[in-house]
Amino acid sequence: MISKKVVENLEKSSWVRAMFDKGTKLRQIHGDDKVFDFSLGNPDPEPPASVKETLKNIISEDPKGIHHYMSNAGFLDVREKISKKINSETGLSLTVDNIIMTCGAAGGLNVVFKTLLDPGDEVIIFAPFFGEYNFYIDNHGGIPVIIPPVKDSFEPDLELFESKINKKTKALIINSPNNPSGYIYSEETLNKISDIISSKEKEFNTTIYVVSDEPYNQLIYDDIELPSILKIFKNSFVVNSFSKSLSLPGERIGYIAVNPDIENIKTVIDSLIFSNRILGFVNAPALFQKVISYSLDAKVDVEIYKARRDRLYEIITECGFSCIKPQGAFYLFPKSPIENDVEFVEHALKYNLLLVPGTGFGCPGYFRMAYCVSIETIENSYPAFKALAKDFNL
Ligand code: PLP
Repeated sequence: MISKKVVENLEKSSWVRAMFDKGTKLRQIHGDDKVFDFSLGNPDPEPPASVKETLKNIISEDPKGIHHYMSNAGFLDVREKISKKINSETGLSLTVDNIIMTCGAAGGLNVVFKTLLDPGDEVIIFAPFFGEYNFYIDNHGGIPVIIPPVKDSFEPDLELFESKINKKTKALIINSPNNPSGYIYSEETLNKISDIISSKEKEFNTTIYVVSDEPYNQLIYDDIELPSILKIFKNSFVVNSFSKSLSLPGERIGYIAVNPDIENIKTVIDSLIFSNRILGFVNAPALFQKVISYSLDAKVDVEIYKARRDRLYEIITECGFSCIKPQGAFYLFPKSPIENDVEFVEHALKYNLLLVPGTGFGCPGYFRMAYCVSIETIENSYPAFKALAKDFNL
């Protein structure tokens, strides 16, 4: 028998996968253009032309040693460029040592949790959240503690947050812009979180780390500024990737930036590098470390996503659904017109609409739509949403 826990978790993690399977069946029956698949957050714009050009150049130059093992933290020149870029944006003083190259943000998060967690340690997550966090925390013996948002908003419930911190609280995950809501936490909210953490650290004589998961930090609309987590929280890590900013999710390339003021910095950094090694990543993919190092100022055309966000938001709200307009990422997270979001999402299949229930993101009563689809698909989905809304008297 294989692990009972894995089999159990497989059952729990099946929302997006289940929708994907249903979509495949619907496409076979009705044809691609009649199915409106908003289930998968798989970036569909191609990587920027400059990134493809860089890739071709590196391959044609074929520098000696590019395919070798390297330091488990990654190439020095790449890490140096990333540290300088962060310094120029924040005014902080990171060095090459503060950067560890990882296999995407998912790899980076696992490396951070492996480094931080002893069995039974608690990690606080603000809902709604990327469901994989539950498994990443559990991978390293931790226990997720979920804080629902303030009613009818995506603001974290800070009173509840404060009340849930105890001696076992090891970390807080922040994901802004957020998957699934596209919400961005304001500097004011982050400062309040920081005050709560400081007072609880004093009360319990502990350290509470902030792990900021930022793969959507380049997908921001309406000139909103993303506050710097490294500047607000001393004991913090930023985990980032190029999966969304450069449309490179399959290349598995990202990094961890360690706050230069973190306590016991040498042990923390050595432990992160060790964790990267023993989790079996060994090091981040060599070729794409080099590619992104020449592409730090590039990003996908955010206007593509913005146009889709605007049109989909318009369609959804015109049909009577209630939705907070997202400020970043590529998701909409409207309210389900009935309490049972799973039942609602099942009903939407009648119109070939593939949505994901909020339950899969720790936030029942909502549903997620990923607008990694063409503007035509969004436009053509209008009658289906109208019919769906009518069924629920919207
Ligand atoms: N964190 C969030 C919030 C995500 O939505 C995703 C992927 O969708 C990841 C992390 C993993 O990203 P990566 O492809 O960089 O591992």
